[in-house]
This record gives sequence, structure tokens and C-alpha cells, in this order.
Amino acid sequence: MRRCLVWLRHDLRTLDHPALQAACADPESEVVAVYLRTPRQWALHDLGTARIEFEQACLPSLQADLARLNIALVVAEVEDDTQIPAWMARHVVAWSITHLYAHRAHEIDEQRRDAAVAAAVAGHACHLHLLDDVCLVPPGRVLTREGRPYIVFTPFKRAWLSLLATVPAASGAPPPRRACFLDLDAVAAPPACAEAWVRFWPAGEAAALARLEQFIATDLSGYAESRDHPESDGSSRLSPYLAIGNLSVRQCLQAVQRSAGVDGRGAASWLNELCWRDFYRHILAAFPRVCRHQAFLRATDALPWRHDAVDFARWCEGRTGFPIVDAGLRQLREQAWMHNRLRMICASFLAKDMFIDWRWGERHFMRHLLDADIAANNGGWQWCASTGNDAVPYFRVFNPVLQSRRFDPQGDFIRRYVPELASLDARSIHAPDAAMLRARGIDYPPPMLDHAQARTRVIAHFRALRLLQTEA
Ligand SMILES: Cc1cc2nc3c(=O)[nH]c(=O)nc-3n(C[C@H](O)[C@H](O)[C@H](O)COP(=O)(O)OP(=O)(O)OC[C@H]3O[C@@H](n4cnc5c(N)ncnc54)[C@H](O)[C@@H]3O)c2cc1C
Repeated sequence: MRRCLVWLRHDLRTLDHPALQAACADPESEVVAVYLRTPRQWALHDLGTARIEFEQACLPSLQADLARLNIALVVAEVEDDTQIPAWMARHVVAWSITHLYAHRAHEIDEQRRDAAVAAAVAGHACHLHLLDDVCLVPPGRVLTREGRPYIVFTPFKRAWLSLLATVPAASGAPPPRRACFLDLDAVAAPPACAEAWVRFWPAGEAAALARLEQFIATDLSGYAESRDHPESDGSSRLSPYLAIGNLSVRQCLQAVQRSAGVDGRGAASWLNELCWRDFYRHILAAFPRVCRHQAFLRATDALPWRHDAVDFARWCEGRTGFPIVDAGLRQLREQAWMHNRLRMICASFLAKDMFIDWRWGERHFMRHLLDADIAANNGGWQWCASTGNDAVPYFRVFNPVLQSRRFDPQGDFIRRYVPELASLDARSIHAPDAAMLRARGIDYPPPMLDHAQARTRVIAHFRALRLLQTEA
């Protein structure tokens, strides 16, 4: 008899799920799925409450969807990853499991955990099967002619595009099992969880699919133009769903391909972002030091980054005195999400203008983003701080006021998140005059630094490193 256990991690869905499909390939096999809560591990990896709650909130609907396939979803808790091998071994024995399925992880700690699990279950005649899921083209498959990983995006993308034809078509849900060796009615329901973010991101696979459909139908064609303007809500806002796997990236690709005839430019531009997503995952897999909070460009670890807790707190709270920066950081506090343009502006402001260690910002984002993802977050931060591969050049320092005028020309986004400035007109809102604020009785802090001086400082620090070549 073939009994399978599917270990769900960041793949909380029933459709297009390679591990579930593989477990169900034999119609006679009985299948159970498990989701393990690991509170200490989450804390060690800086996963914040928002992201954890979001993940938990979709478990009840997932349990119900799986039950319809005669697959029990067991939700259990261990402290951290070190306890998982023993948990798996115990249950493989108790349930007579012959095959354990999961999706391949690329982070160092997770790879070690999976190796330990494979060894633990192998002792009980059970095999751990790891399948590719998270990327469109799995890490290790997009290589230069010399067989090395790409570290520059444009040639990576060229090679990646040529491999897109090899991406398997997104599949549906597996057919229902005949039976389940656990009593489906007796399996405990997942603990109730406040859906704190439900107003912005209703939890679950059905909500994720509905958002994908809506984005493709209404926003994709204008995406190339509107994606950079935070007030227009022109991006898909699918990142939280992709981060916890309510949706697969293959489903996204297929949706784009279906619609590509409508407007090639929007589709190409969105595909470009999905490529960045793969790119950073490939970088993380090929250069594991980025999982260890080390700069990709090692030399930049010698920069004398500031570690000023008071200034950092002003940035976190959105009280820098630069309205567009404060608006972005307040959006993060309110929605546990931030628009990409704002992420770039806020990250650049912290690392370049404030010259505060980019890792502080990276950790803050990990702790507060619903879509917290180590590869994309680290890649984004190292890009902005000029410490990464193919990063923005160190001498390019975003001017927050010019960025604000360009990407929020009417100041509507600022008005929404910095309501004390709502009465200002489009000309003054980007850099409000202190005397005018006083005269109007508006309580908003003056700019915490002089951008021109800050720019000179950061460029001088980078120049002192003589960091003119990339190393890898
Ligand atoms: C400093 C910084 C930190 C970031 N941290 C994260 C993070 O923790 N998690 C995360 O998913 N994204 C992160 N990003 C990338 C990007 O900001 C978000 O993916 C995007 O804002 C999500 O919005 P969306 O779903 O509307 O994206 P869309 O524009 O609709 O793009 C579609 C999808 O492509 C992916 N994507 C888009 N842009 C990027 C990018 N630059 N890098 C990698 N993937 C991308 C996302 O999965 C996104 O959902 C970060 C960017 C920066 C500059």
C-alpha cells in the first residue's frame, strides 16, 4: 500500500501543486497533508506577525478544500526546525507513510532542515521527494556558456526567456482519493486566527485566483505605465499570495500568456517582474552568503554603516520629514505592504541618505511585510544599497523630493498616508516649507537631513572603498 504525506510550507493551495500531484499520481495511494507551525523558527527568521497571521488565516479554507479531495490536513506545532526530523520520523512510523513529498527550498537553513528530514525518514523506509515549485525556471538551470550563474539581470533574462517554453503547464487539483487513513471529521481544525489584513488581502486560494483574474482582465494592459505610480494601484498586489503560495507563479505565467494578445507591452512588463522574482531566487541559491546577511559585494561590508537607533526609529515610524518616504513607511504600517516604487525610495533613503546599515531596513521589512520573502527582500535591499549584484550604481542616490514629484505628481498618495499634509497643494506637498507648516498649525517634522550633504557623504564612503569592480 502506498501512503503519502505532503508537507506544505509556502505552497498553501490545491491547484498546480507539484508535490500534491506527485503524491496523488497513483489513484490507489492514500494521502495526508501536514502544515507545521514553528514559532521559534519564525522569530529566528524575522517573520513578523502580519505574515504569520496571513498564512494561518488561509488554513481553514485549505483544510476544507483538501477534505473534498479526501485528503486530511493536519496542522501541528513544533518549536523550531530542529524538531521537525523527529516529528516526521514519528508520524511516518505511526501512519505507515512510504513517501514524503515537499517542494524544494533554496535557503541554507531550510536545505539543512530538509536534508535532516530525509535522513530521519529514510531510517523508516520512507523517501523524501523534493520537487521544484517556487520559480518558473528552477535555480541551477539558467547558466552562462561557462556553466556559471548569471549575476547581471539582462543576460539572465535573455537566457530565462529562452527557457520559458520548458515551464510545465499549470495543472488543476488532483482527483479525489478513494479514502483517507485518517478520519477527516476527527482532524483538528486549525487554530482560529484574526484576519487582520482581510480588508486589503482576503485570505486563501480562491481570493488569490480572483485577484489574478481581475488584474489580468482590468490592469495588465496599462501595467507598464501605471506600475510606478503608487496612487494608481496599477500593480497586481499579488505578492502576499505568491509569498505563501496561495498561487503558483506558473498560474501567473499562464494567465499572462493567455492575455498577451490584448496588450503586449503590459504583459511583457509584468513578465519582467516575474523574471526579477526568479533572478533573486537564483542568486540566493548560487550565493548562499546572501542568506547570512552578508553583502553580495563583499567589500561593501567594510563600509562604516551607521547604527543609530534613534534615527532608525524615525524612519520606521515615518517621521523623517520627507513626505514621500513617510507615506511609504506608513503604508507599510497600515497595510503590511508597500508599493515597489516606495520600497525603492524608502530603502534608498535609509541606506544612502541616512547611511544606516541596509540590514536594519531589510529586517524591518521582513518583520512587517505580508509578502516577506528572503530572496526578493534581500535582492531589493542590496540593489538599493549598491551592495548587490547588478545593483544601482553607488553614485546614483535617489532624490526623495524629485522622486515624489515624478511618481506622485498630485501628492495624492502622500495625502492618503500623511493626512496632516492633506491640505497642501501639489506644489508644496513634496517638500513642505517649515514656516508655512507653522503658520497653518500643522504638526509635521522638518526634514531630518540635507539630501545634498547626505549624497556627498555616501558617495565619499563608497569611493573610499575603491569599489569599482564586482566580485563573485
Ligand atoms: C527594498 C525592497 C524590498 C522588497 N521586498 C520584497 C519582499 O519581501 N517580497 C516580495 O515579494 N517582493 C519584495 N520586493 C519586490 C517588489 O517590491 C514587490 O514584489 C512588489 O512591490 C509586489 O507588488 P505586486 O504584487 O503588486 O507586484 P507586481 O508589480 O504586480 O509584480 C508581480 C510579482 O512579481 C514579483 N516581483 C515584482 N517586482 C519584483 C522585484 N523587484 N523583485 C522580486 N520580485 C518581484 C512579485 O512576486 C510580484 O507579486 C522588494 C523590493 C524592494 C525594492
